[in-house]
Amino acid sequence: MTATLIDGKGIAKELRSALHDEVAKLTAGGVRVPGLAVVLVGDDPASQIYVRNKHRACADVGIKSFACTLPAAATQQELSKLIAELNANEEVDGILVQFPLPGGLDESKVVEEIDPSKDVDGFHPYNVGRLVQRIPYMCACTPHGVMTLLHRTLGKDLKGQNAVVVGASNIVGRPMALELLLAGCTVTVTHRFSKPQDQKALIKNADIVVVAVGKPKFLDGSLIKDGATVIDVGINRLEDGHLCGDVDFAEASKHAAYITPVPGGVGPMTIATLMENTVTAWKIHVGL
Ligand code: NAP
Repeated sequence: MTATLIDGKGIAKELRSALHDEVAKLTAGGVRVPGLAVVLVGDDPASQIYVRNKHRACADVGIKSFACTLPAAATQQELSKLIAELNANEEVDGILVQFPLPGGLDESKVVEEIDPSKDVDGFHPYNVGRLVQRIPYMCACTPHGVMTLLHRTLGKDLKGQNAVVVGASNIVGRPMALELLLAGCTVTVTHRFSKPQDQKALIKNADIVVVAVGKPKFLDGSLIKDGATVIDVGINRLEDGHLCGDVDFAEASKHAAYITPVPGGVGPMTIATLMENTVTAWKIHVGL
């Protein structure tokens, strides 16, 4: 079997274009434009690139983006004051604080200070709790983007699919497992302390494998069951400058029915889902 590529880049483009049309239609009717505040603390070059891409995506969709920058030496109090101002700003529907923050600043405190209705990253404990309780509100962008890819590829009904999530971080693995559970999958999560033989056996039996570990070619592709769907969330920069995922793509492609490439798979969906969340928050705020 040779796997079919899941075209995350193309699906993200369609999603952004649909959002653009929806925003254009609603704002033409007199509703104010949606707004996203992007907070950057310090001058980390990688964070600057991510932030620039987010402003560009906003411009594409018709979202007004607010660039909020603080110096690397900013204090927790200064950051809290900025978040409070953005929470109160009626033009701002979403607040995104670019992580990692410079050392000394408490990221979880920042997450908890964001108004949950503006938490377009879906990291606030309120929003995570809503997902746990099967009443999702703002969902974390990467896992939710993966769900869009799965639904577009496999259809709406994922009930009873055997899904394994490799990696259990707060931003990918854990919310990913909750999303799959909500969709009716039988979900297992493996992590640093899983026994390698258990992890292998689970992957061999999985219909859907989502990998988010952050180690190049971590997952042995020969373990993939024939006909499975493989979602590679990992983004790793190799010494030669190329990007590579967490899955041994060449080997996994021989067994999977569908697989995401890196780059061009999950990455574009994360930013498209951020736009989707901002539009959702906007519609709630303006009463649509
Ligand atoms: P992270 O916070 O470092 O989490 C990695 C997870 O992998 C942890 O849960 C860790 O387990 C687990 N792990 C480590 N060794 C393992 C092993 N031997 N077997 C199974 N699990 C193991 O990373 P992350 O933020 O989730 O990101 C993971 C990857 O996805 C990175 O490459 C990142 O760049 C990429 N990423 C991509 C996007 C995108 O838009 N495409 C978005 C976010 C992240 P413990 O919890 O036990 O430590």
